[in-house]
Amino acid sequence: MISRYLLLVPLMKEYPTFVTHLECSETGETYPADQLRGLSDHGKPLWVRYDLKALARSVSKEQLLSRRPEFWRYREFLPVRKSQNVVRLGEVMTPLLPAAKLQQRLGCGEILIKDEGRLPTGSFKARGLALAVAMARELGVRRMAMPTNGNAGAALAAYGSRAGIETYVFCPQDTPTVNVQEIAFQGATTFLCNGYINDCGKIVAGGQEAMGWFDTSTLKEPYRIEGKKTMGLELAEQLGWDVPDVILYPTGGGTGLIGMWKAFQELEAIGWIGSKRPRMVAVQAAGCAPIVRAFERGDRHAEPWSNASTIASGIRVPAALGDYLILDAVRESGGFAVAVSDDAIEEAQRECARREGILLCPEGAATLAALQQELSTGRIQPNERAVLFNCATGLKYPMQSAHGTIDLAQPIDYEAIRRAGSDS
Ligand SMILES: *Cc1c(COP(=O)(O)O)cnc(C)c1O
Repeated sequence: MISRYLLLVPLMKEYPTFVTHLECSETGETYPADQLRGLSDHGKPLWVRYDLKALARSVSKEQLLSRRPEFWRYREFLPVRKSQNVVRLGEVMTPLLPAAKLQQRLGCGEILIKDEGRLPTGSFKARGLALAVAMARELGVRRMAMPTNGNAGAALAAYGSRAGIETYVFCPQDTPTVNVQEIAFQGATTFLCNGYINDCGKIVAGGQEAMGWFDTSTLKEPYRIEGKKTMGLELAEQLGWDVPDVILYPTGGGTGLIGMWKAFQELEAIGWIGSKRPRMVAVQAAGCAPIVRAFERGDRHAEPWSNASTIASGIRVPAALGDYLILDAVRESGGFAVAVSDDAIEEAQRECARREGILLCPEGAATLAALQQELSTGRIQPNERAVLFNCATGLKYPMQSAHGTIDLAQPIDYEAIRRAGSDS
């Protein structure tokens, strides 16, 4: 008996995990951990709750220093119990890039850009989907489905293929082509649909019985928030276990904002940070700003936005299931929600690329446009440290073309090249 037990021990490689239960984010009702669940019985997103006292006893800030620079270094804060269920594609801790020239021009205390485009599949959706897929594997899911504006689908496809889980992805028909292609190419069965992301969501919800898939829509399963939470843990660690004055976050479904807010609560609960919180600023595009409208009206729930339109497809989300969680975090933090125009987004993207050599995605550029706007209204002060989230690589989006063409059959006109250089 004893020898059989000893033989088994090395095979059961388990992470020390501290999940105690799941909790309805609306009613506080609790559900057991380690069971497959989407929403609460009230149809609301679920929080993953931990025994934070035991967590605090089991890991120290110093111990983290010897671990790999990836978000799995925060495994005590994450729900995956068996290490063999972790799916890796070379996750990195994303850099926090200073933007000194923009800082000087805009008159901001400090601008730091968290460049999430370095993650696998080129966006921070990797954080959420790595966790969702790992937990799906742990809980025996064989098939997953989701609606997406692009980046989430790509991350689901890649991590799903890596984990040996079948994936189905539904995109609005005007999803950028490169996103649709990367999703299909990385193994998801992919469809275009003539509607918005919410319409695609209905296909997924409606097909659960017929298709036997697990609905992996934003906030419809508990673990994507936990993955996105690592942005808050990582940011605090990179700042020497401190938080910035203000975080500007391009907000669609809001998982990242909600997740970071949870991270700061957990870090304070274990005594790793103090009670100071960054003001959370939810940035949306003027052509799709349901959260901004609700914030300004003082509402806790956001009315769906009609005729949503913006070049920043990642934040083109007319209705967010976690609207009240976004608005609660924004308000508790003393922050606000703000919209910027597509023109301002394009201008910010151009300026950041030229001045700083940092290629933002339009959603990331929206945060820079918002910073500029709010420094002038005074809602952000000139002595503050601001962190902007660039959530995806700019390489997936349309960019400027060349300044001229050269015909090799003709003599090279260096004067024309010089002129093009000084004009641009
Ligand atoms: C998904 C996405 C967002 C919005 O993130 P949420 O956490 O869902 O609000 C912003 N930018 C990009 C590039 C995205 O892919």
